[in-house]
Amino acid sequence: MRPTLLDPLFAPADSLPGVGAKYAKLFDRLLGKSGGARVVDVLFHLPHAALDRRARPKIRDAELDQIATLEVRVAEHRPPPNNRKGPFKVLVEDGTGDVELVFFLANVEWIKKRLPIGATRWVSGKLEQWDGHLQMVHPDKVMDAEELAKLPPVEPVYALTESLYPRVIQKAALAGLKRLPVLPEWIDEANLKRLGGLGFAEALGRLHAPNAPSDIDPQSLAWQRLAYDELLANQLALILVRARMKGLPGRAMLSEGKLGGKILAQLPYALTGAQQRALGEIRADLASPQRMIRLLQGDVGSGKTIVALVAMAHVVEAGRQAAMMAPTEILARQHFERMKPLAEAAGLRLALITGRDTPLMRRASLAALVADEVDIAVGTHALFQESVAFRDLGLAVVDEQHRFGVHQRLALADKGEAADLLVMTATPIPRTLVLTYFGDMDVSALDEKPPGRTPIDTRVLPVERLDEMVAAIGRAIAGGARAYWVCPLVEENEDLDVAAAEERAESLRAFFGTSVGLVHGRMKGVDKDAAMERFQRGDTKVLVATTVIEVGVDVPEATIMVIEHAERFGLAQLHQLRGRVGRGSGRSTCLLMYKSPLGEASRARLNILRETEDGFRIAEEDLRLRGEGEVLGARQAGMPGFQLARLELHGALLRLARDAAEAAIAASPRLEGEGHRALRTLLYLFERDSAVRLLEAG
Ligand code: ADP
Ligand code: MG
Repeated sequence: MRPTLLDPLFAPADSLPGVGAKYAKLFDRLLGKSGGARVVDVLFHLPHAALDRRARPKIRDAELDQIATLEVRVAEHRPPPNNRKGPFKVLVEDGTGDVELVFFLANVEWIKKRLPIGATRWVSGKLEQWDGHLQMVHPDKVMDAEELAKLPPVEPVYALTESLYPRVIQKAALAGLKRLPVLPEWIDEANLKRLGGLGFAEALGRLHAPNAPSDIDPQSLAWQRLAYDELLANQLALILVRARMKGLPGRAMLSEGKLGGKILAQLPYALTGAQQRALGEIRADLASPQRMIRLLQGDVGSGKTIVALVAMAHVVEAGRQAAMMAPTEILARQHFERMKPLAEAAGLRLALITGRDTPLMRRASLAALVADEVDIAVGTHALFQESVAFRDLGLAVVDEQHRFGVHQRLALADKGEAADLLVMTATPIPRTLVLTYFGDMDVSALDEKPPGRTPIDTRVLPVERLDEMVAAIGRAIAGGARAYWVCPLVEENEDLDVAAAEERAESLRAFFGTSVGLVHGRMKGVDKDAAMERFQRGDTKVLVATTVIEVGVDVPEATIMVIEHAERFGLAQLHQLRGRVGRGSGRSTCLLMYKSPLGEASRARLNILRETEDGFRIAEEDLRLRGEGEVLGARQAGMPGFQLARLELHGALLRLARDAAEAAIAASPRLEGEGHRALRTLLYLFERDSAVRLLEAG
């Protein structure tokens, strides 16, 4: 149970003065994670910039395009001439010069009241030069002497979201700070000193009520302290989960590799060196009585599936069962279809379990699982539902892992007595991120592609050349090619994604008729599969898609990938999409279409894709250019990223946090006693409640 000490922080945000009914909904929607926004969400919504209102120059000395706070006398009201539309202007002066205050759609009554002619006022805002004279368009502040006294010297700026203005957020945050209980310090002395000695509350205070603009910087002491707190909670939780898994006894699974050999013998190719190495590592883990927690990392097309299948065959040969979980129905089916003939020829029995099974089918497959009529279960998250039980699960394989949370991973492995865990990911993840998101897993990397792949010809083109491209695709299709056409990702609005895709499919039909297919996230599962299958069979030649094809789907005949609005995608995501082609022996092309004008940074990003197909390099560049949340496609995958820490900036803190977490758990495995109980508070504060439960369960 969360300590009552923290209750005020987990109260709804609308309990804060200034939030109230008017803003509650906006706070909920914009800051609330799954439920409504809470006080802690407001406090953790840090400002990203600051407005510095400390400069109080004379008009003559004021710098252009900077914020100035000027003491002025109101000289003249200048309504728009002849009652035409136009801004209402107010001329103010201070003896050294004058400035026109400009109000569009002006509220004249307000102006007359707040800026009566002859009055002395302080106005604060950005000073600009316009048509030879100085102006300030919509001053941020118009104050009298009394109000000036209350003006904070530095004003935090928060991500502006609809009508949640920065000042509304700041007001709520300041109220939240007042509610902050006195919390025990969870950072050890040495690290606290290293981080500058600021307490948790003090650090939050610096950011929401800064003294200088430099306070609002991810590298400021205050921000670093908070980032460290979050990383520490994250690392503690990961270590606890891992300790739990390693702590449960494993079972040695010994096999001679006969079944695996039978599978390999059917393949028209030999395993790559990397595949053999990975299999060797996995096999050693399976055979050891320690529990395996291993990440199998390999770029798209590097051949993870066969490695997993052979590993599962070893487990079956050792007398136990295996399960493979995929993030989507399409992928689960694809794995099933592709593994089935290979597995069955080796005498293995496969079952498919997804959310789309009829109750009757479901009951039959569940009974078969328990009755030892199934060796390998392939499925979606339906696999780890309560009702699913195995006779004796020995290995859980989780594909495209970052779409699943720690819980789901554990839930599947928990279906077996001491089941080993193999996590597969196609996103080449920089080492720092492996540590963060997966904790200390053992890693096998497929860093070598199967031979015979021709490099993909990647081009970056403006959308103006669409017609030209459509013509070229027409020629390619006539020659037997197949093409994916991916439509833009419109953030947080799947409806718009779908509309764009439908529209594109429609316009392409004008050229290619019925050979255009469409698949998107809003389609029913069966319809999605049907569309994929038609494309796989070649009934359709152009498949227009939203990003549902992103992960794993394999159609070796597809050699063209068009991505519209490529500038809106993350690099890693583009790389994933591109990986859908170049799988056969034919030469493949990837066309990255952008909408002009393309900014400097976007061009640099797209050029990286032109230069390399090395997923690890792309991931590193992506991390450098965009930050960690985007690398893993956090938003799309619904994965909680960090709120306060930014890995590209706080990577060094991650090490510190990791070492501290390890030391703490080594010293007190259940985080008890004076120095360590505070860490439990930290875990609750960052909502790693389930990790604390692991402590209690022991
Ligand atoms: P991943 O899941 O890593 O993206 P897959 O397992 O889907 O990759 O494999 C991609 C394709 O490469 C499949 O068609 C598979 O049959 C083929 N493949 C796998 N290993 C090899 C190999 N050693 N040599 C040639 N082709 C291979
Ligand atoms: Mg795959």
